[in-house]
Amino acid sequence: SPPPPASYRVVLLGAAGVGKTAFTSIFAGAADSMDSDECELCGDEVFEKEVEVDGETATITLVDTWDTETDDDSVQDCPMQSGDAYLLLYSITDRASFLRASELRITLRQFRPAEQTPIILVGNKCDLVRRREVSSSEGRACAAVFDCKFIETSAAMQHNVWEAFHGIVRQLRLRRDSK
Ligand code: GDP
Repeated sequence: SPPPPASYRVVLLGAAGVGKTAFTSIFAGAADSMDSDECELCGDEVFEKEVEVDGETATITLVDTWDTETDDDSVQDCPMQSGDAYLLLYSITDRASFLRASELRITLRQFRPAEQTPIILVGNKCDLVRRREVSSSEGRACAAVFDCKFIETSAAMQHNVWEAFHGIVRQLRLRRDSK
């Protein structure tokens, strides 16, 4: 029998209101046998499902952190330490959330100093063109500085959200295959 599919824990990080719940809904909504659970340690919502990327199955456990605004370390520690990979969200309509993403990237680096943890910087709400406060080139430049991938998405239009999830699986596989 074939080996079980690789299982990855993917954590959503970002300021309140950037679209983490919307991302989780899209992820969860496509699940046939959705399994929702509470992480006992941190109270975050956790969803698990199998996805096929490039003809190979992977199991993603998605962790939607419910509050990363707080400075309470007991809340931050859990998702900061438990992820195999991170989607670092901001809203292109909210410059403060972009700055928050930078802070979270730095915190993440402190928690995961030695490892090449896959991270994608995600500029969400790209459908709101007239309210844009952060340009695509700024987002791309920030990602380059932080040594991570970059994508702009619209959860509202379901644009590029699955591309972000698939991208993180590809990065995890690259890391796995280079070991
Ligand atoms: P969270 O606090 O990070 O979980 O953010 P939510 O997912 O709750 O989103 C906050 C608000 O932004 C909600 O009203 C969403 O409907 C809205 N929202 C989320 N993603 C998008 C998007 O891509 N485009 C637009 N126009 N609205 C969005």
